[in-house]
Amino acid sequence: MKTIKIKNKEAVKFKKGYPLLQKSSIKDFDSGLKEGDLLHIIDENHTFIGKGYYGLQNKGIGWIITSNSDLTIDQKFFSNLLSNALGLRKSLFQDTDTNTFRVFNGEGDGFGGLTIDKFADYYLLNWYSEGAYQFRNYVLEAIKQLFRYDGVYEKKRFGRQGQYIEDEEFVMGERGSFPIIVKENGIQFAIYLNEGAMVGLFLDQREVRQAIRNSYSSGKRVLNTFSYTGAFSVFSVLGGASHTTSVDLANRSYAKTIENFSLNGVDYEAHDIIVEDVFNYFKYANRKKRLYDLVVLDPPSFARSKKNTFRAEKDYPALLQEAISITEREGVIIASTNCAKFNMKKFKSFVETAFNQSPRSYKIVEEYSLPNDFKTISAFKEGNYLKVLFLKLDS
Ligand code: SAH
Repeated sequence: MKTIKIKNKEAVKFKKGYPLLQKSSIKDFDSGLKEGDLLHIIDENHTFIGKGYYGLQNKGIGWIITSNSDLTIDQKFFSNLLSNALGLRKSLFQDTDTNTFRVFNGEGDGFGGLTIDKFADYYLLNWYSEGAYQFRNYVLEAIKQLFRYDGVYEKKRFGRQGQYIEDEEFVMGERGSFPIIVKENGIQFAIYLNEGAMVGLFLDQREVRQAIRNSYSSGKRVLNTFSYTGAFSVFSVLGGASHTTSVDLANRSYAKTIENFSLNGVDYEAHDIIVEDVFNYFKYANRKKRLYDLVVLDPPSFARSKKNTFRAEKDYPALLQEAISITEREGVIIASTNCAKFNMKKFKSFVETAFNQSPRSYKIVEEYSLPNDFKTISAFKEGNYLKVLFLKLDS
């Protein structure tokens, strides 16, 4: 156990439960720390703050995992954490329409740097630092004790700048035969745990997809931008959309969207699936005077294409302006972002900015953040990164 000292002016924040350790908060930082080192964290007056571990991440250098000085970070600790996490998701485990969701959400469930997702009978671990990865045996043992599974896979997300490291991904149990077919609110999706960082479905948007199907798609012409595997399009069609257009730059999106439509008995030929830069598509749609009743905007936080670099924290208003220009009277824009660099308040100000440049006006009719299985803690606001606004335009 290594002792680290938090600067007095930062100590209050950590005492209130802020879990992510920053190098700048530490007094006399010891450059000899090794990934996975357990930390005894105190303030400059030697008052105990918590126990944690060292693990270099995209943001931060490790996590505080408990403020209880008597707790030992051992097998029992991890078994308890995972057991509690399962307990909190009991209703999802019993839901016969959904067999894919998050089972363990990092700091929200008591251990930053690790998430676990369920995809039918398979589990996927995401490790966000080499330090977190040092606790792997404890986590695997807890899974063996507590989970019913066919197989377990993992992704190491601790390459340079938090990039995904390509490596053996199978961990234990049986190897999957891919795609695994999962169900979310009765709708099926193809999941590939062996093809890189993204597996086919973003589980944090479950409630948004459900709202689209239940209340926003019947009879509508839908444009799904940054459509990836078409999840929003599939829910739209099953909610009664008259037509969907899915636009994504990546070649893979074409076959994967067809696959998801087909799994759900939808004739994909009745829909448009377009492999193109969204920004070009907006120009094209404007030229052709195409209008949509529902436009879904769910871009990555950062993306570089041949012509454009998109940074959500800077470019979201401009993206939204493009969407406004092709949205029908009384249409709806679903503006979503997973960018942790700004909060909901700021996101709403982006919406204001975009509409200030336009004669159209709008009302926010729904607002979403992460669903309960993506458990967050109030002391760590940036952990609740998802922000989704349903904007109803005027007539
Ligand atoms: N909205 C999707 C997830 C989007 S993931 C869903 O809910 O399933 C981000 C996607 O944006 C990726 O598939 C990526 O290929 C695509 N993308 C990034 N830049 C793009 C651009 N300029 N034009 C079109 N697609 C883009």
